[in-house]
Amino acid sequence: MTLASWMDESQTFSPDAKMAKHTPFFEPIINTFNDGGYNPSVSYHYNPNVASYHYGVRHPMKPFRLMLTDHLVSGYKLHEQMDLYETRRATKEELLSFHSADYIDFLKRITPENSAKFANDLKKFNIGDDCPVFDGIYDYCQYYAGASLDASRKLISGMSDIAINWSGGLHHAKKDEPSGFCYVNDIVMAILNLLRVHPRVLYIDIDLHHGDGVQEAFYLTDRVMTVSFHKYDGAFFPGTGNYEEVGVGKGKHFALNVPLQDGIDDESYIRLFKSIMEPVITKFRPTAIIQQCGADSLGGDRLGVFNLNIRAHGECVKFIKSFGIPMLCVGGGGYTPRNVSRLWCYETSVMTNVELNSKLPETPYKSWFEPDYSLHPKLGDRFENKNSKKYLEDLRIQLLENLRYLNQAPSVQMQEIPPDIQNITDDDEAKIVERLKRESKIDKYRDEERYYINKKDESRRGELLD
Ligand SMILES: [Zn+2]
Repeated sequence: MTLASWMDESQTFSPDAKMAKHTPFFEPIINTFNDGGYNPSVSYHYNPNVASYHYGVRHPMKPFRLMLTDHLVSGYKLHEQMDLYETRRATKEELLSFHSADYIDFLKRITPENSAKFANDLKKFNIGDDCPVFDGIYDYCQYYAGASLDASRKLISGMSDIAINWSGGLHHAKKDEPSGFCYVNDIVMAILNLLRVHPRVLYIDIDLHHGDGVQEAFYLTDRVMTVSFHKYDGAFFPGTGNYEEVGVGKGKHFALNVPLQDGIDDESYIRLFKSIMEPVITKFRPTAIIQQCGADSLGGDRLGVFNLNIRAHGECVKFIKSFGIPMLCVGGGGYTPRNVSRLWCYETSVMTNVELNSKLPETPYKSWFEPDYSLHPKLGDRFENKNSKKYLEDLRIQLLENLRYLNQAPSVQMQEIPPDIQNITDDDEAKIVERLKRESKIDKYRDEERYYINKKDESRRGELLD
């Protein structure tokens, strides 16, 4: 066999008689490339360990939804469309870039066995039903934060245009306490990392809940604009996120909140989203975007009150992607694991410009997707839509009014990084740039290594089939 014929899959992988009798594993993938020709280089950041942690039997947050997602992604062969990185744990120093030392020390020390000894700390750090102590809690935090930090580094070095970390997006965590199932705030840490080289970072949050932890961290700065779409009535968790919250001081008008009522449907959500985000992006001119893709805004979510379908949620992500700005995509909420995994798999296909067949591929967990085995089950009819046309129109006018103050995007000098966010000197800056350069050299080396390893694996597969 010549090399050329070995490279031609149709000649190498002769159809196996047994396989041919069964339904093929994968429907054909059609590349659409219909985003004005934007064909980003996408990286996928995941460590399987993160899916094995357990908040408790009755707790709605189920990290194994990440494993389901990963199986769908590889079942559809989307991993072939991306650079894959098994992520490392965030270091303590990285966690301290946002969190206080005594809180991180507490997370490191606390276990279900010794928690009785920490009664005062449990109270001080707001540990309870929402944020329980579980086995490996600190490792879990390190894994999901490390993945967001790795992903942000790929954007900084220019090796990825879009970097995906579905295990991240834990937007409620505060500097010195956990909140709403979130212990450390990977988004804030990733933004701080991006700010080292990016003058302006836009944060977009389409979780069901207000992205309060991220908003609070950057409430005083004009270098990070936070925009959150969420259910709001003053009582719904976390209780913040009315349109009147716009930022303070230098940060005034650099926070935007879109309070919504129960039952919002695909059409009104998408229309509102696009009509707000288009002027935000053209006026603020972000050089990097973080898109939080919380899946609890889907219809049928265990904790949800909206009526969104998977395509509508994905349409928002597709719209942001169409601006061609470097983007970090993270997960977030989402408490019906089968729909969380469907959504994030679909959104992975959106990033990689791949059209998926609605029929789900064979995976070891196919039974989770009974009875329809579809990527797009109908989700959007559980709640009455309490968002009247008038409510949405008044809201839109109010929000566009807030945006009038954004006519001049701040052209920020790196030296102007607010000291409350990051105390960084010119020397530090130079060191960081140096380190990033070294890191991208290492990355390049690793890429080459991976390429050779993959090639070796392919030849093994070929040998077996021959
Ligand atoms: Zn949420």
